[in-house]
Amino acid sequence: MSSTSHELRVNSIVAESIVDGPGLRYVVFTQGCPHRCHACHNPQTHDVGGGYLLDVETIIHQFDENPLLAGITFSGGEPFLQPDPLCVIAKQVRRRAKTVVVFSGFTIEALNALADRRPAIRALLSLTDILIDGPYIDSLRDLSLPFRGSRNQRVLTRETGFLPPTRAHTPDEGIAA
Ligand code: SF4
Repeated sequence: MSSTSHELRVNSIVAESIVDGPGLRYVVFTQGCPHRCHACHNPQTHDVGGGYLLDVETIIHQFDENPLLAGITFSGGEPFLQPDPLCVIAKQVRRRAKTVVVFSGFTIEALNALADRRPAIRALLSLTDILIDGPYIDSLRDLSLPFRGSRNQRVLTRETGFLPPTRAHTPDEGIAA
């Protein structure tokens, strides 16, 4: 995955969405996904070398252009393939008292295991207000569920106890503030 703390490999951006979390949201569809869920709706996001590189400052600048936004959503693709640049963005969004929603094909348990080897994953979890976790399972498809595609996926907030405490400041993990 060729991205740095300052560049994110992106598939697409939706500047205003009301279906990717609570309120009006700026949505970043990250590029690259290892999960290969059957009947995935975003197969164009799978190639880790696809999409295009965008610097995080551009994303933050675009976010700031719309004061009506409730927050940002990271979807994909698999956002946790690129936790470093997403941490930079998430920190800036939270500094503006706005929320961070992340969709992941990994379960929180898998992310916690991966975070033992890659601290930036835990840092991104600590900056996440709502995590929708788990792969899309076509046989469990349920379009009545808010924000989710299949019944196995969970909406995890900090109150559920699944997310690590929010850190006022993230230690040096190669993540720029
Ligand atoms: S995690 Fe999402 S983008 Fe990745 S294969 Fe599954 S449905 Fe598609």
